[in-house]
Amino acid sequence: MFVIHYHEIALKKKNRPFFVNKLAENIRVSLERLEGVEKVKIEKLPGRLLLINYGSSTSIVGQKLAKIPGIANFMPVFETPDDLEKLKESLGKKIKNQKFGSFRVTTQRGDKTFPMTSEEVNREVGAFVQQKTGARVDLKNPEFTVFVEILYKRIFFSFEKIQGVGGLPVGSSGKIVSLLSGGIDSPVASFKMFTRGCRIVFVHFHSFPYLDISSQEKTVDLVKLLDEYQGGSRLYLVPFGDIQKRVVLAVPEKYRVVVYRRLMISIAERIAKKEKAGALLTGESLGQVASQTLENMSVVDEVASLLVLRPLVGMSKEEIINMAKKIGSYDISILHDQDCCQLFMPKSPATKSKKKDIEQAEDELRKSINLDEMIKDALHNTEVKDYL
Ligand code: ATP
Ligand code: MG
Repeated sequence: MFVIHYHEIALKKKNRPFFVNKLAENIRVSLERLEGVEKVKIEKLPGRLLLINYGSSTSIVGQKLAKIPGIANFMPVFETPDDLEKLKESLGKKIKNQKFGSFRVTTQRGDKTFPMTSEEVNREVGAFVQQKTGARVDLKNPEFTVFVEILYKRIFFSFEKIQGVGGLPVGSSGKIVSLLSGGIDSPVASFKMFTRGCRIVFVHFHSFPYLDISSQEKTVDLVKLLDEYQGGSRLYLVPFGDIQKRVVLAVPEKYRVVVYRRLMISIAERIAKKEKAGALLTGESLGQVASQTLENMSVVDEVASLLVLRPLVGMSKEEIINMAKKIGSYDISILHDQDCCQLFMPKSPATKSKKKDIEQAEDELRKSINLDEMIKDALHNTEVKDYL
């Protein structure tokens, strides 16, 4: 059994039931997908959720809860009736085998009609634990903490509070399409948007058979990792090599990166329409590489009718790397691969592309091929992978 505290939902007033229901549903679905979890029940308590996991392993359930956006923290709990004597009785049994030199009691009341304040409960339970174990109270740096949650007619206690990823529940802000390369940035951008309540559909452009399948393998591994935060992910693998080849023939070298990016955005947008997604997402960060300037990003956005989200735009590489390490994507991202952008990559891309020049280059491209047909072909040959 777990008590789950939610994060920013606590701030929502009128819409709170919508967010709480979404979170409860996400928790239920994610847990029931796990092997070894038969059934769970979720009850709404004031300001928190109670999860009953019946016989299934507390550690398996806990590992999953740590990855569900919208959860601020959670605690494996024991329950007693709302009577301090009963609480002490069952607490006494549970701490008998625990060894600690210092401790504190942290009480939270969801039931403000309870006759004692949190401070008074802390003191009374604290005196009891001290007398039982001989340990000293240390409010700042305790070796052991007893968490007490007082709710209507029931009290829960725990010895462990585990941090969640926070933010909002997946799906509460709608659906978006993430352009996922095998690099470090785009998985971090995706993670950030999970915690802003987005459900994400992934799109990866590859240059197979001109390059090997390593970028696809990496992307598949990244989606597997990211899927842990939402479940039921979908990945589109779009063949982009033929289009790139034609770009190389028709477009001056310095404009190619922006032209590739505009094509990727147009194709991703078609996928977004099909998926009924409301925005696109990239891992770009201002000034990180020559192609990621205000001018180039603006020219790329010209082809999009949907909003293009760039949550990393103001982050430094170091911040992004730290976050990639935290979510576990870093080790996959740094594996060597043959990324489609390395194919026919210009030595020095234009840093300040003008819309006029790019459009002129694209006109040349259109003269040489039927671009719409090529895009249709690429979409036709796109492989779709579903993660259930
Ligand atoms: P990343 O680490 O995400 O690859 P990056 O700093 O290497 O980012 P670029 O390679 O310039 O940046 O790509 C910018 C963004 O364009 C990426 O973050 C990603 O969203 C998108 N992108 C680039 N290449 C691809 C690809 N092959 N498939 C899908 N999206 C891509
Ligand atoms: Mg990249």
